[in-house]
Amino acid sequence: MALFGAIEAGGTKFVCAVGSAASGIAATKTIPTSDPDTTFAAVTEFFQTAGRAHEIAAVGIGSFGPVGVDPASPSYGRILATPKPGWQGTDMLGRIRAFLDVPLAIDTDVNAAALAEARAAGPEVRHLAYVTIGTGVGVGLVSDGRTVHGTGHPEIGHILIRRHRLHGEFPGVCPFHGDCLEGLASGPAVLAAWGSPATEFGDDHPFWTIQVDYLAQLCMTLLLSTMPQRIILGGGVMKQERLFPAVRARTAELLNGYVAGIENARSLDDVIVPPLCIDPPGVVGALLLAEAALTAPSIS
Ligand code: ADP
Ligand code: ZN
Repeated sequence: MALFGAIEAGGTKFVCAVGSAASGIAATKTIPTSDPDTTFAAVTEFFQTAGRAHEIAAVGIGSFGPVGVDPASPSYGRILATPKPGWQGTDMLGRIRAFLDVPLAIDTDVNAAALAEARAAGPEVRHLAYVTIGTGVGVGLVSDGRTVHGTGHPEIGHILIRRHRLHGEFPGVCPFHGDCLEGLASGPAVLAAWGSPATEFGDDHPFWTIQVDYLAQLCMTLLLSTMPQRIILGGGVMKQERLFPAVRARTAELLNGYVAGIENARSLDDVIVPPLCIDPPGVVGALLLAEAALTAPSIS
């Protein structure tokens, strides 16, 4: 049976896999992200070994950004202006095409994850936002089965939000904007503000109130701007499950009845939810990108 190749290309690791969204993952390998040559040498070796066991029909990549996602642009598949040393201009698709002549597709890691979550949610969920609150804050969007881009991919993790007064003068950690959403609410932001991760905070720590407020501001912005049926909150920081009911309550409070059907936290119970995917959603999404590349070869 022909299977698909997937790469979730992250700033700290590349997760490679062979499988399909329907049948699951047949083989996988995690490769630490170093320079492009070293990283892709290991990626090549994985797919060449896996390719002896399974025919690989197409490969999908869910990549860290910024990355060219418009198939009509010469920058399609290339890493754009990244502060990550050595990676700017890297031709992610070219590096795969060098050893595997199959249809290829690339999108952002969060858009790939959004695709996987949309599939897991079922056909009645047509509009979905996937948010990761981890090393960074990122948002992927799916509308009617397709990921959403403008001329480039959106960067909703860097929106400006209203600072919480309990955060005082904390300047934020985003190297570009300081106190944007990622600068205030990512895992590294929590560590920089308080000196320890959320796993160590007691019930009365101000982190809970502040984080809930920031995530609720994001949810409100997503609801007002794109009106998704689901907002999936994932990433390391959301392992703190108690954030979910509090974020729903604060989002309802901020919206203040303005959006039809959202009058209280209960009406957001099925909207603001944790990820459904058991396998890493970025990897499953990359498999879905590969499947789509095979059926729509214009994006190869
Ligand atoms: P990445 O974003 O790099 O893919 P993660 O989503 O695991 O990785 O996010 C890592 C960040 O999440 C770190 O900053 C870490 O402090 C934070 N984090 C990881 N696990 C937890 C947890 N259980 N509770 C709160 N924060 C966590
Ligand atoms: Zn920023």
